[in-house]
Amino acid sequence: MDFLAAATAIAGPANVLSAPDDIAPYGVDWRGSYKGTPAAVLRPNSTQQVSDLIKCCVDHRIAVVPAGGRTGLAGAAVPLANGPESVVLSLERLNRIRTIDARDFSIVAEAGCVVQHVQQAAAEAGRLFPIQWGAQGTAQIGGMLSTNAGGIRTLRWGNARDLVLGLEVVLPDGRVLDDLRRVRKDNSGYALRHLFIGGEGTLGVITAAAMRLQPALKRVETAYVAVPGPDAALSLFSRMMESGADVIAFELCANYCMEMAAKHGVGLRIPLPLESPWYVMVELSAAHESIPLREIMEGTLGQAMEAGEVLDAAIADSEAQRQMIWKIREDYPDCSRRDSPSIGTDTSVPVSAVPEFLRIAERELKARWPEGRMAAIGHAGDGNIHLSLHAPAGMMDRGAWVARAADMEPMINAIAVSLGGSFSAEHGIGQSKRHAMVTHKNAVAIDIMRLVKNAIDPGNVMNPGKVLP
Ligand SMILES: Cc1cc2nc3c(=O)[nH]c(=O)nc-3n(C[C@H](O)[C@H](O)[C@H](O)COP(=O)(O)OP(=O)(O)OC[C@H]3O[C@@H](n4cnc5c(N)ncnc54)[C@H](O)[C@@H]3O)c2cc1C
Repeated sequence: MDFLAAATAIAGPANVLSAPDDIAPYGVDWRGSYKGTPAAVLRPNSTQQVSDLIKCCVDHRIAVVPAGGRTGLAGAAVPLANGPESVVLSLERLNRIRTIDARDFSIVAEAGCVVQHVQQAAAEAGRLFPIQWGAQGTAQIGGMLSTNAGGIRTLRWGNARDLVLGLEVVLPDGRVLDDLRRVRKDNSGYALRHLFIGGEGTLGVITAAAMRLQPALKRVETAYVAVPGPDAALSLFSRMMESGADVIAFELCANYCMEMAAKHGVGLRIPLPLESPWYVMVELSAAHESIPLREIMEGTLGQAMEAGEVLDAAIADSEAQRQMIWKIREDYPDCSRRDSPSIGTDTSVPVSAVPEFLRIAERELKARWPEGRMAAIGHAGDGNIHLSLHAPAGMMDRGAWVARAADMEPMINAIAVSLGGSFSAEHGIGQSKRHAMVTHKNAVAIDIMRLVKNAIDPGNVMNPGKVLP
């Protein structure tokens, strides 16, 4: 039996796609930077089917590229352009919430569940699934875990990794690693789940995850704040952290980013005039309604204003205004993409080093590409700044700009690493940052990663050409 017939016998004809139009969307990444043609797209709807399909791929010497919502920003869910014959294994039909237990503060969701649906299910049970970011309406639990996604609330509840209690994973030989426990304490040997979280599909296919929930937020206050610069933002961050409220988001955005949001955003209303060089979006929460959160927000902003750290502020007066602040943040990547070609980075530095990082980066970028336009936005509360260099106004040829400013990303990575940071804060390595692994990743760490890869996937079946340099 040939491969397509064998796969069809497992998943059914509707779930083995091979027509060019059907597979085309699975052959390109969100940014349109990476393209590769899968031999087929497989859409299993059970752990057993995932296992059977992987064995079928191994038998036919075909590599497996797992795919979730395909919102990843490192080209990891797309087959290599000139790589081995590969299929895309899409988890989209494995999308059931298996259990939700409010008393346990836990949820067990299959890999293909869209993140936003998990948030909604948690809310209906009176709980909070705390991770949040712009692509949550499309990204899936399997992709979220395989990239160890961060987002705007990392500073309070950690990355995706920190939410996981247990995993179910299909290994490259088809065996199922059933570690789907919901317990919070389990010291029975190596915590194997952490190999697959952030593994970008190179070690196996996550089919389900048991994850922590939090108590629902009782009160939140959200403000959009104009600040004179990153130093002032850092001081404001300390004030907020010391205010007695929970700081659950603290984002820093350059004015240029807000200009792009105002220009390209659909239905976005920026709360303050575009007159300040920098803005902060901050959200506070409290576990009890008696905590005077509004007073805390107003008082902290007032003190910061007296100290010259805040120029102006708009505190959301309604849930609609609050959602608008986060919509501006979440729609920004799309506005930036529509504006002009850019080269992006995903760096992190210690929170205290964010101002210095931005100072050095701006100086070096201006010296090297004075015609480029620097955009900086990010999760300043956890030190993760996404710095991009946009092409000069009117230049829409992405290829030409990427060629002209090809050294931009290595330059920014080097600045972040020199300040004790990382060249890959939350998007992963995929195809796009393998070169940086060679430059910046500790050689011993790479050796161990290779040993782990060879031990679990000696045939290099899983997502070849990703992560490892
Ligand atoms: C507008 C926008 C905003 C974003 N903002 C953020 C942000 O703030 N923070 C952040 O961290 N990321 C952000 N991202 C990046 C992206 O949303 C995340 O990386 C997300 O976790 C990817 O999920 P996905 O389901 O789309 O995964 P995909 O893109 O489909 O896959 C990503 C990787 O996971 C692997 N994979 C997918 N499913 C599985 C599985 N079940 N088992 C094994 N491997 C699997 C793939 O092979 C690939 O290596 C943003 C992206 C966009 C488009």
